[in-house]
Amino acid sequence: SFRALVTEKAEDGAITSSVQQVDEARLPDGNVTVDVQWAGLNYKDGLCLTGAGGLVRTYPHVAGIDFAGIVRESVDERYAPGQAVVLTGWRVGEVQWGGYAQCARVSADWLVPLPEGLTTRQAMVVGTAGLTAMLAIDRLEATGLRPDAGEVLVTGAAGGVGSIATSLLGRLGYQVAALSGRPELSGALRLLGASSVIDRNAFLGGADKPLESARWAAAIDSVGGKVLGKLLRQINYGGAAASIGNAGGIELETNVLPFILRGVTLIGIDSVMQPYATRVAAWQRLAELFDFAGYDELVEEIGLEGLPAAAQRILAGEIKGRVLVKVG
Ligand code: NAP
Repeated sequence: SFRALVTEKAEDGAITSSVQQVDEARLPDGNVTVDVQWAGLNYKDGLCLTGAGGLVRTYPHVAGIDFAGIVRESVDERYAPGQAVVLTGWRVGEVQWGGYAQCARVSADWLVPLPEGLTTRQAMVVGTAGLTAMLAIDRLEATGLRPDAGEVLVTGAAGGVGSIATSLLGRLGYQVAALSGRPELSGALRLLGASSVIDRNAFLGGADKPLESARWAAAIDSVGGKVLGKLLRQINYGGAAASIGNAGGIELETNVLPFILRGVTLIGIDSVMQPYATRVAAWQRLAELFDFAGYDELVEEIGLEGLPAAAQRILAGEIKGRVLVKVG
C-alpha cells in the first residue's frame, strides 16, 4: 500500500481530504506505474480539493494535476523502470487519480521524459505553471515579439504562472511590467526580473475607453475578467496578448477597436491537451532557461497533510509563487 491524500464527499455534500494508506489494487487502469516524488499545487488543484467548480465527478478521489517521479513498472515500450518522468494535464487529478499519492498509474501518452539536467523536484517547482508560461512565451514570440519591442505586461504576477512568466521573460531580456494585487510583493517581483510593478487597483481605476494609450508590446494574463478587458485596450500596434487563466473571472468585455485599428492578436493558451512534441520542446526550453536559484524565495514546500489548508489559500489568491508538495 502507499500514502495518498484521499478526497471524499460526504452524504451532505461536504468535501474533505485526509492522508490514508491506499491499496495498490485501487489504482486506476493505465500502462505505466510511477513512484511519485514531487507534486505541485495549482489553482485547479484548489478547485479539486475543495469541490469548487465541479471538476471532480467520482469520489473517493486522489487530486494533483501535475507530478514528477520515477517509473516503477511499464508495459509501454516508451518507458522503462527507473526512468524519470513528468506529467501535467490530460485531466489527471480531475477525472483520473493524480499526483497527491506516492504511487500513480497513468497512460504512457500523458507522460514526458524528464529533460536532461532537470531534477524531479525542479520539474515541480515549475510544473504546470511553468509549462504554461513557457507555452505562452513561445506563442508570443511566434507572432514576432522580441525584447526590443517594449514592455510586456504579466498579470497575476505573484502567482504561479505569473511569477514564472516574469522570471522567464526577464531571462530572455524582456522588460517586464508585473501587475499584482499585492504591492507588498513588489520587491520580490523586481528581484525575479520585473522592471516595474503595477498595482492592480490603480490599473483598473479610471474610466474604460474603447482604446487607451498603447503601453504594452504584449501581455501574459492569468486573471481574465476586467483585467484582460482593460489590457487589450492598451496593447501596442501589432502586439499580442496571451490569455492563460481566469483567477479573476471568466468574463471578457471588450470591443473590436484594438483588433481592427491596432491589429492586436488575442492568443489562447491551453496546457492540458497540448500534443507531445510541443510539450517536449517547452520542457526542454524551460530546463535550459529557468533560473531555479533566483526563484528559491518563492517556493514553499509542504507535505500531503498540508494540502487542504494550502488549497484554501490558493483560491483566496494568497499563495506567493509555487507550492511544492513532497510526496515520496
Ligand atoms: P495562482 O498561483 O493562484 O496565481 C493566480 C494569481 O492571480 C494570484 O496569485 C493573484 O496574483 C491573481 N489573482 C487571484 N485572484 C484574483 C482576483 N480575484 N482578481 C484578480 N487577480 C487575482 O494560480 P496559477 O496556478 O498560477 O494559475 C493562474 C490561472 O491560470 C488560474 O486561473 C489557472 O486555472 C490558470 N491556468 C491555466 C492553464 C492553461 O492551460 N491555460 C494552466 C495553468 C493555470 P497577484 O496577487 O499578484 O495579483
